[in-house]
Amino acid sequence: MSIYQRIVRNVLYPLDRWRTRDSAELRYLHEFERTQFLPREEIRERALERLKRVLEHAHRRCPFYRRRSDSVGFIPGDLNSLSDLSALPILEKRDIQHHRDDMVATNWSRDDLIQDQTGGSTGAAISFFLSHDRKCSRAAATWRHNRWAGWDIGDRVAMVWGSTPDIPENTLKWRLRNLLIDRNLCLDTGHVTESKMRSFHHALKRFRPKIIQAYAKSLALLAEYLDSHNLEPYQPQAIVSSAEVLEPADRERIERVFGCPIFNRYGCREFSVIASECPEHNGLHTMGEGLYIEVVRGDRPARSGESGAILVTDLLNLAMPMIRYRIGDVGVLDESTCPCGRGLSRLQSVEGRITDFLVGNDNRLVSGVFLATYVVAKLPGLGQVQLHQDAPGHVLYKIAMGAASSVPPKSDLGFLETETKRYLGDDTKVEYEFVRELPAEPSGKHRFCISKVKHALTS
Ligand SMILES: [Zn+2]
Repeated sequence: MSIYQRIVRNVLYPLDRWRTRDSAELRYLHEFERTQFLPREEIRERALERLKRVLEHAHRRCPFYRRRSDSVGFIPGDLNSLSDLSALPILEKRDIQHHRDDMVATNWSRDDLIQDQTGGSTGAAISFFLSHDRKCSRAAATWRHNRWAGWDIGDRVAMVWGSTPDIPENTLKWRLRNLLIDRNLCLDTGHVTESKMRSFHHALKRFRPKIIQAYAKSLALLAEYLDSHNLEPYQPQAIVSSAEVLEPADRERIERVFGCPIFNRYGCREFSVIASECPEHNGLHTMGEGLYIEVVRGDRPARSGESGAILVTDLLNLAMPMIRYRIGDVGVLDESTCPCGRGLSRLQSVEGRITDFLVGNDNRLVSGVFLATYVVAKLPGLGQVQLHQDAPGHVLYKIAMGAASSVPPKSDLGFLETETKRYLGDDTKVEYEFVRELPAEPSGKHRFCISKVKHALTS
C-alpha cells in the first residue's frame, strides 16, 4: 500500500465521513471486518438478536406490521430461533405499493427518512425509505465486500455502470472529493455506441483502476467489443460484477478478455449488497450481519440445495422495516463451510434479473436495466411490464393488468413512448399489448427485456 493510500485510509477518509456525519460507516466497517470470520452459529445468534429488535420495534411502531402480526397471532417476544420468523406472512411488492406509509415507524424523525425506489426489472417498482444509519451500514457492507476482490480504501475504482442517474453530479466539491478520496471513474453504459466503447477502453488505460465494478451485461459488451477489434484491454486486479445476472458465457468471456477473476455480486436497491463471492468463487457469502435471507418453496423452507424464492429481512433498517420481503429472484442456500474461513452463509446460485440490450434504428444500444430503472420505475402504478424487441427501433411493451383488468391511463402510455424515444431515438416505434399476467420463466425468474435483434456488439 502506497503512502498516499495510507493517508486516505487513516486520515482523509475518516475526516470526510466525520465532516458529512457518516462516521457510523467506519463503526460498521470495523464490525463487519471482524464478524465475517466468526463461527456460523455466533453470526446466527447475533442475527437473532437484531431480528428480535426489528420485530418488536415493527410491532410497536409500524401499524402495518402490528396488523400483520396480530392477524396470525404472532408475538415478537416469543421468537426463539430465526426459523420461527416463517410464522409471519411474506411481504410482497404490492403490499409496499399499497401500505408503504403504514410501514414507516411512527416515532421516526421525518428528517431521517431517505427515499429511494426500485427499478421494475423483477416485477412492479416500489418506493421505500431507509434511515441515515442504514445508509452508513450499507456503504460499509459494500466496502467490506469490495475488499474481498483485493480493493482497499484509497484504491482507484472504475464503474462500468448502466444507469446514468447513479453517477454523481460533476460539481467542484464532488470532483475534489473524488480526486482525493473516492478515486472513481464512471463510464456510463446506459446507452452505448461503438465510439463510446472505444473511449471507455482509452479511459480505462489512462485511469488504471485497481478494480472494475460493472453491470454484468455492460462489461460483457465491452469485452466483446475489445475482442472483436483486437484491442489490448487494460487488466485490473479484479472485476466485481453486479446489478444483473452474470451468465456463464459472459463470465468466461470477461475473464478471458480482461485476464483477471470476476467476483460475482448480488444486490438490489432495497438492500444494497446482499451476497458476494469470496476468493474461493464458490457461491456468494450473504451480508449476514445486516440481512436475514430465507429461500422458500411456497410456504415451506427450501431443502438444502433446492432452489426457491429469496426472501430478505433487513435487520438494520428501523425507519421502515422490511420483513420477509419477496425480492422476485430465485436462489439456492448453502450452509456448508467455505474454505476461506468466513462464517457467513452462502447463496449457491441466484437467478433473477436477466435483461437484454435494445437496439435503436441508428444502431445505438440501450440497456434493459436502464429502462427498467429510469423509465418504467417512474410509473409505480403500472404494475408488471416486459419489453420485447423483434426489429431495431421497434419496442413492444407487454403490460400485465392483473385482476383489475383495467388499461393504464393514456398519460402513462404517453410517458413510456416519450421516454423510450428519448433514449432509443425519435424514430422508434413504440407499441403496447395488455395481458392478464406475465408468467415467469420455468426457473421462476422474470425476464424484463427480451430482444431478438442481432447486433454487431451483442451477437
Ligand atoms: Zn468463502
